[in-house]
Parts: sequence; C-alpha cells; structure tokens
Amino acid sequence: MDFKTPIENIKYIGEKQSKKLKKLKIHTLGDLLFYFPSHYEDFSQITEMKDLKINEDAVIKGKIMELNEERSFKKRISILTILLQDDSSNIEAIFFNQGFLKNSFQKGDELIVAGKLKFKEKSLYFSPTIFEKTNKNELTHLGKIMPVYRETKGLSSKYIRFVLKPLVDSFKGKLPETLPDKIIKEHDLMSFNEAFEQIHFPKTMEMAEKAKKRFIFEHLFFISLSSLKKKYEIKNEKAQKIEIKEDVIKRLKDSLPYKLTSAQEKVAKQILEDLNIPHPMNRLLQGDVGSGKTVVAGLIALNCIKNKTQAVLMAPTEILAKQHFKTLFDILKKFNVNVGLLTGKEDKYYSYKLKTDTIEISRTKLLEKCANGEIDILIGTQALIVKKTSDKKPKVLFKNLGLVVIDEQHRFGVKQRKELCIENNDKIPHLLSMTATPIPRSLALTIWGDLDLSIIDKMPKGRKQVKTSIVLPIESEKTYKFIEKELKKGNQCFVICPRIEEDENSKLDLKNVKDEFENLKKIFPKFKIDMLHGKMKPKEKDEIMKNFKKKKFDVLVSTSVIEVGIDIPDATVILIEGADRFGLAQLHQFRGRVGRSEKQSYCFLRTESPTKNTIQRLKAMEKHASGFELSEIDLKLRGPGDFFGVKQWGFSDYVMSALKDIKLVEEAREAAKKVFLKLENYPLTQKRLESFEDKVHIE
Ligand code: ADP
Ligand code: MG
Repeated sequence: MDFKTPIENIKYIGEKQSKKLKKLKIHTLGDLLFYFPSHYEDFSQITEMKDLKINEDAVIKGKIMELNEERSFKKRISILTILLQDDSSNIEAIFFNQGFLKNSFQKGDELIVAGKLKFKEKSLYFSPTIFEKTNKNELTHLGKIMPVYRETKGLSSKYIRFVLKPLVDSFKGKLPETLPDKIIKEHDLMSFNEAFEQIHFPKTMEMAEKAKKRFIFEHLFFISLSSLKKKYEIKNEKAQKIEIKEDVIKRLKDSLPYKLTSAQEKVAKQILEDLNIPHPMNRLLQGDVGSGKTVVAGLIALNCIKNKTQAVLMAPTEILAKQHFKTLFDILKKFNVNVGLLTGKEDKYYSYKLKTDTIEISRTKLLEKCANGEIDILIGTQALIVKKTSDKKPKVLFKNLGLVVIDEQHRFGVKQRKELCIENNDKIPHLLSMTATPIPRSLALTIWGDLDLSIIDKMPKGRKQVKTSIVLPIESEKTYKFIEKELKKGNQCFVICPRIEEDENSKLDLKNVKDEFENLKKIFPKFKIDMLHGKMKPKEKDEIMKNFKKKKFDVLVSTSVIEVGIDIPDATVILIEGADRFGLAQLHQFRGRVGRSEKQSYCFLRTESPTKNTIQRLKAMEKHASGFELSEIDLKLRGPGDFFGVKQWGFSDYVMSALKDIKLVEEAREAAKKVFLKLENYPLTQKRLESFEDKVHIE
C-alpha cells in the first residue's frame, strides 16, 4: 500500500464510510494517515472509584460483577446496569438505550469506562461516554491520551481511531524524514516518524504538543520553500530593463500640486530600482487607503512609457477604472502620453485620451491601438485582460508591454503576463500589485512570500483621523441626530448593512439594505436617500455612485460592495450596521470611504451584540488608525482565514493557527532559505516539496 491507495481499498473501510471520509477530504491512504487530531482528551489517569466526584470527568477501571437489563415501558428504552468493582469500591454504570451491549459483556470482564459520576433520585451512578474492554491486546481508546478527530455526521472519532490505529502501527518507523537533519537539530524538532506516531497516539500531552509543533514547523517550512522557489523561478525569467529617467521623474514630481511623502519617495525608489534589471519585478505595494498609491503607479508607468514600453492598469470595478483613468490622465497629460480606457462588455465605454481630448472610439479601434503600440497606458477592469478558460486568446494584446499594475488583487500569473504581449514574447512584463488590505507579517512571509514588498507607511500631511466610535442599540437616536447635523452642513453619509434583504430563514436579526432604505427615509425626511447592492447590474451601480459623487443625493445605503477606493470628498460619516459581522481589515476599508478631504470625518460602528469579544474587537477600531496594526490584531483575534486568498491554500486548522505565531513563521522561513540554496542536496525534502505543491494551488 502506498499513500495514493484509495481509501476504499483499506481494511474496515466500506462504501458507506469511504463516502463519509471523502466529506472530510480524505480520499487516499496518505490523506488518512495525515488526518491529524483536532485535540486530545487525557484518559491516561485512572481514578479509583472511592475518589470519584459528582459531575467531574473521570476514567474508571473495574471488573463486571453483575449485568442487568430493564426496559422502561413508559419511555420504551432499555436500561443496562453494570456493577463494576475496583480495589477501592464499586459503582453501577448505567447505559441507556444500548441494550445490545449486553451480549458483548460478560461477568468477570474488565472494563475501562470514561464518564461522570451522577447523582439522581437519591442514588449515585456512573454515566459512561466511552468504554472499552481491557482484555484486548492493547487499548485503542482508553487508559491513555485519546486523540479526537474532526467528525462528520455518521463518522465518529472513535471510528477514525479504530481505522487508524493498525495503519499507524504498520507505518511507524518506516516513513522517510522530510526535513534535513541539521534543521531538525537546530530547531529541536521531533523526527518525522516519532511525530507521526505521537500526533495520533501520544504517550503524554507534552509529546503530543511536540509532535504538533514538528508538523506545524514542517508545513510553514514547505510553504516558505514553495514561495522561495516561485520567487526564484520568476527572477530567472527575462524582462525588459527599464532605465530610470531622472529628468522625466523630476518633471512629473514638480508638476504635482503636492510634494510626495517620504514614504512615497521610498517605495518609488525601490520599485524603480527593481525595474532597472532585466528580470521581472513581482512586487506588492501596500499602503493604507488614501496613502497615495495611484500617483506612485503613475510615476512608475510614465518611466516605463519613456522606455518605449506600454503599461496596463487593472482595477477591480468599472467605477474605479474610470476614476484611475481620470487621475492618471491628469497626472500624465503634460507628458504626451496616450491613455486608453477599456471597460464594459458592449462597445460603449471606450475612451481614448489624446493629449487633452477624450474621444470615444470603438472597442475594435482601441484594441488595434493597443496592439500597434499607440496606446501608452491602458486602464480597465481585469475581466477584459484575464483570459477566460472558454476562449483561447486573451482579449487584449500589447505590442510591447512592460508593466502590469493591478489594484486590489494580489496575484497575476506568469503565464497570464506572457499572454498579453505580441512582440516580446520571451519577456515578461513587470508586475506591481497594489493593495490597501494590510497583510500581516506572518502571511507576507509565507503565502505571499514570493512577492517583494514595498510599504507606504505614512499618510500625506494634513489628513485628519476619522473619529471612530462604537454605537450601542440605545444610542441610535443620538447617532441619527449627529448624522442629521452633518447632512445639514451639506455633507454626505454612507450606511453599510450586512444584508441586501431580509432573510426569513435566518435567526440572526441583521440589518438589510432594502428595509434600512425605507427606514432612513422616515428618519431623514428632508434628505435624499438611495441604495446600492451587489444584485444590481454594474451599469446601475455605476450610475448610483456617479450620482452620489455629484451630490444628487445625501445618504447612500449599501452592502459591502462599496468596499474599494471610490473618492467621495464630501462624505464625512459612515455608519456601519452589524459591525461585528465584519473583520477589522474590512471595517478599516469601509472607514476609508470617508475622510478623503480636509473635513473632519466620523465612523460609527453599530452592534446589536455587545459581547465582550465584539467590543474588544471593535475597540481596536476606535484606538487604531493604521490598517497594519488592525490587521495584526485581526489575525490574533480571528485567525488568518478571513484574509483575502488564505482560504484557497486549504490549510488545516492547526496550520492556520500557527500563522498567528510570527516567531515560528520567521524561524521556518529562515530555515527554508538556508535549505533552498542547496536543495539538490536534500532529495527527500525536494520530493516532499513537489507533492506539497501538487496539493496546494494558488493563483
Ligand atoms: P490610495 O493609496 O488609497 O489609492 P490615492 O492614490 O487615491 O490613495 O490618493 C488619495 C488622495 O491623496 C488623492 O486625492 C491624491 O491626489 C492625494 N495624494 C496623494 N499623494 C499625496 C501627497 N503626497 N500629498 C498630498 N496629497 C496626496
Ligand atoms: Mg487606490
């Protein structure tokens, strides 16, 4: 049997069980062997019967003295009473509705039973949860530390233990070590074989912990190794060397109505230097909402264009694409640059800015101009550029694409990058991903470890911090009064709801956009209100955002669809309903919708469930203005599962929680770096890396 053996071929696994195992994503022997316990219960201590305490978990061991089955006619259940005796005392264990057990027990058998001593109707008895006869060769469940596995309906932990025990026994001592010896020594790790045995059937809780640590380390190590390998592979590809045109850069900076912040200068320098080598850049530019990433992108793009290459910028939505088109055109117009905008599915939305005029041209024309190199920078949504699996060709071709800039999306594959070019097919365009989603350091080192990182850690001068406060249900009136005052000043307000409409099947009473829209009309009768949600057509959404920007109405009720980068300078208030439903990173994004001018702005976080946990989390929003700090807090409080892209890796829960441990992550990354340089010396590690990469797919 090898690891790839389908579970159907394993002893004791029938068709029924294999279906259920597959629900737990266990398809092969390997999956099963490495299906690790979620936790353990310590049954290694046997309590003497005389020491039992009422309602406390305990394990007892005794001889069966008497067996007696009764039927309760009223309730139609069987009651099996077994009198057990040890050296100290005796006690009756009562099994309800398990009369069938009678035939498997005999007087004189020795039993180990876990459960609780109960006191009911004036008598004491032992209520068992699990039990086992001791006259088997070796106990699988009791008398030791018992692994508890994540179960699914009809498939118990007990069954998993039962199937696993003989398998673990047959494999123990025979598995290849996947980590180099020196790493094991340096980091004081358990060997693979020992850890494999101890994680399933540990001798002590300490051994279980050590085994777990070994596998967590191993996993973090291979994640790091895999991202280092990717990084290395990309660095081995060819790209156009983009020279730094100091004069143009200076002219652009001089033309801006503001001075770049030191943080913008720093990242621009990092990026320019990275482009100045003939290998593809693969870089993530992180900066809080409003930190000024767009102008950095504009500067970089201009430098590429002056190196006779084209650039493309992709935004996550049409509204944003248009906003970028306008911003970049304003920045670049003095430099004789042709800017194209490509959005929408029909032939309506294509604009082409030639020096100072916008002209609308057909899609075909625009694509032509892209392919012949006339367009210097094309802005659009990514849908138009990323190839759909159904059609072979990418939708847009460039004559000589030098730079891909992506807003709010972290990955763009090498293959995708290659496909965009017609002339320099052996060269790959440089990639700059931009994000306002702060990535905690442990994730930046692991699953985003193939990307180089530039961080804008300072805001432009003069920005006022958004005043943030938690609103409890009883404070509603006060909040609405406050909002009304802002509206009277001519300011605008966002209201975010977790749902689009009422969900009658849900027990949770969450605010929804449609009802809130009606409700707010009554609360603010003098003001105009509109709504926005994900079920609307893109065109409709676009229209509403445009109208809000033009101040055609005062309050916008919306779901989370307004999450990314739109500029509404007069919006000074955002009220987030059901704030506890959102992660801190997302709340922080919402908050970034306001405070985009010199005016003081406000963010209200309303929660209907003011539990200690919720308040603790939301208080972090009151206290911290920096997305980076919030992301680290979010990671600690909620784990990494909510971060964009993390779920795709399909990590087990314990690796997920390990990602909270920055020290271990750093250790594993350092170890991986050392090994990576001489990977060919460690064939087993290399082999494991390959199978690891087969399993986890990103992009
Ligand atoms: P984000 O990083 O969220 O994409 P933007 O690029 O949209 O931020 O910039 C937000 C606003 O800040 C824009 O109006 C932009 O013109 C302005 N801005 C950018 N850099 C500076 C700066 N150094 N000083 C002052 N304002 C700036
Ligand atoms: Mg932006």
